[in-house]
Amino acid sequence: MPSPILQLNQVTRQFSRLAQPAVCAVSCSLQSGDLLALLGPSGCGKTTLLRLIAGFEQPQDGSIEIAERQVAGDGVWVPPEQRGVGMVFQDYALFPHLTVRQNVMFGLNDRLERGKLERSKLERSKRLKEVLALVRLEGLEDRFPHQLSGGQQQRVALARALAPSSALILLDEPLSNLDLQVRLRLRQELRQILKAAGASAIFVTHDQEEALSIADQVAVMCQGRLEQVGTPEQLYQRPASRFVAEFVTQANLIAAERRGEFWQTELGDIPVTQTESANCNQADLLVRQENLILSTDASSPIVIRDRQFLGREYCYSLELPSGQSLQARSPIGTHLAVGTFVQVAVAAPQLQLYPR
Ligand code: ADP
Ligand code: MG
Repeated sequence: MPSPILQLNQVTRQFSRLAQPAVCAVSCSLQSGDLLALLGPSGCGKTTLLRLIAGFEQPQDGSIEIAERQVAGDGVWVPPEQRGVGMVFQDYALFPHLTVRQNVMFGLNDRLERGKLERSKLERSKRLKEVLALVRLEGLEDRFPHQLSGGQQQRVALARALAPSSALILLDEPLSNLDLQVRLRLRQELRQILKAAGASAIFVTHDQEEALSIADQVAVMCQGRLEQVGTPEQLYQRPASRFVAEFVTQANLIAAERRGEFWQTELGDIPVTQTESANCNQADLLVRQENLILSTDASSPIVIRDRQFLGREYCYSLELPSGQSLQARSPIGTHLAVGTFVQVAVAAPQLQLYPR
């Protein structure tokens, strides 16, 4: 097992004694070369956690190790410029009066690399060429930031962070200022660039699709705490909490009550399977959008309230008698009009329940 590039142990940061901690007892590790997405809603503590790792914030509790060296906690404090960490911000934070070349070189002049002497002028211009090739900005060295598109500006910011061969790159919502098309293209590119550079990175996002599509590991954060860390597949298949189920996999949760060998729900009775805990009588049942099968039935109390055409499928919004709404995805062949009453069957290969 290779040693982790980052190790967080019970890291806590509380800004005010009256408020709950912005980051609360977070423990997590990142393997060298991995890309970790830190995913959570706005205000859950993502930026604070990045700032703790970079050294712009000091934890009240817990410790941080980067490349097997303790940088914070237990009375140890290593300042940001000595941590070997590169940072990319949402608003790029490029120097407007410096050219692309000067912006990227700033990353090299700015800091002495850990354990190395400052690079010679020749080495620096060689490195400049390398990283500009990596982010595909060759030929734009003499442009100023205002002469570049948003996507190009973000690639300059990435080049600046990569230039000193930092042990770890931290990216705080790097794509959220870009329009959708550029964002979709750049997110794959970002992964390729980081992988080609052999970088280890933490990528902050509030967009679950972005996190699942590019990360090796995803850490889900809610109200300062880590809810679950795992591969995108693990998170999708086995969300550990209601929050992960809803926020990350966008699944439906419906109330279920145990009646002998069945779970009674608004969608009908669903047989209890062996895998569920026997000692819980009330639960929320996870039902994926793609596992709902709709068929027209005028006597059903479930009605289609809305329909979105998504190209390969429809997304139907259903209203249950209780008023709860459910989302269902169906292939284009099943064309049902808004206002149609439908019967809903659940094709659930495995049941997932969250006890109440
Ligand atoms: P995110 O990046 O996930 O949106 P933040 O880490 O920026 O969340 O913020 C987490 C919480 O900490 C929020 O409630 C925010 O208001 C609070 N917070 C962040 N920075 C400070 C600060 N410097 N002083 C006081 N409260 C702060
Ligand atoms: Mg933030």
